[in-house]
Amino acid sequence: MGIPLRQQIKVGAYVVKQHLAGRKRYPLVLMLEPLFKCNLACSGCGKIDYPDPILNKRLSVEECLDAVDQTGVPVVAIAGGEPLLHKEMPQIVEGILAKGKVVILCTNALLLEKRIEQYKPHPNFTWDIHLDGDKDHHDWAVSQKGVYERAVAALKDAKARGFRVAINATLFDNAEPERMAKFFDDVTAMGVDAIMVSPGYAYERAPDQQHFLNRKKTKELFRGIFSRGKDRGWKIGNSPLFVDFLAGNQTYHCTPWGNPTRNIFGWQRPCYLLGEGYAKTFAELMDETDWDKYGVGNYEKCADCMVHSGFEATAVIDSVKHPWKAIARQISGPKTTGEMAPEIDLSNQRKADFVFSRHVEQTMAEIAHEPPQGKKARGAKHGGTPAVAAE
Ligand code: SF4
Repeated sequence: MGIPLRQQIKVGAYVVKQHLAGRKRYPLVLMLEPLFKCNLACSGCGKIDYPDPILNKRLSVEECLDAVDQTGVPVVAIAGGEPLLHKEMPQIVEGILAKGKVVILCTNALLLEKRIEQYKPHPNFTWDIHLDGDKDHHDWAVSQKGVYERAVAALKDAKARGFRVAINATLFDNAEPERMAKFFDDVTAMGVDAIMVSPGYAYERAPDQQHFLNRKKTKELFRGIFSRGKDRGWKIGNSPLFVDFLAGNQTYHCTPWGNPTRNIFGWQRPCYLLGEGYAKTFAELMDETDWDKYGVGNYEKCADCMVHSGFEATAVIDSVKHPWKAIARQISGPKTTGEMAPEIDLSNQRKADFVFSRHVEQTMAEIAHEPPQGKKARGAKHGGTPAVAAE
């Protein structure tokens, strides 16, 4: 089990408190994206396809800490773009830890060895290193050779310095169960504290649209991997019921408000994966989003989604409501044979609405009216030359 007991207790107590307070919808993990700029250009990424003026924008330390305060969540995941390109990232991390929150800093690790002196190990702090598979598979996934070896070197360095280190693997349709199992063995031997897994989301702006998984293939793939996991010592960092969901044994609806997303556009509607509008405040996001328009069975763009940011909150809430079910899955692992749980009916889902350019145009117009901000930054459009690593 890759989730520390103190984090499980912290999140469990928070969920119980929300239920006792009668809150129907509440957040669990803040997805903080302080910048979109990245030093990679992965083919399955739908996050960095923006013009340079947008890639060069940053959330300030104050904006990040204010986002934490607005949500009151117990856990903050910092993503992007590449967070280590943000010069004030150490202050952001320190500020969030000082509020007693769990911080998960997602990074491709290319800058980790260079920047690690700016951080200190803390029981609530985890480096979450992007590694999608073994050397050849990961370098394919990030569209650049040599990245796996640099990420692994940084991982080992962080472990040697006493940090808690997880890896997060996003799986596409070319993942092979046997090979993934071997990869999980490899990172386990490196001493990782948690292996976080998720299928990729079919971002409409991702350059490679060929390799996203559909629901059936997702469940078969994860059954294939988890059936090989018995007695191999893998510390899976996802909750046991989310793992069971990936293996096709739970019919879950997503909880998009469970992982609210704050980025340079504002509070993203409806979730981390879909940007179909932005609210100015977290309260506005919660109160004025028409949540029933989204989710599997409601919206075409949601049909194949089984991503952790949408469904982990559902699994965690289910675990708190049905602890014996979660404990049983934790002990036995997910069921990997037999009939799968029924699928959600897609026949009444509404058609996809393509709104990408609207908020980009609006932000570009706002940037045009902002006073100049220092030097001209060196961003790159997705598909072009990646931004330089040593900003
Ligand atoms: S299914 Fe839920 S989490 Fe996934 S894209 Fe749709 S709204 Fe977002």
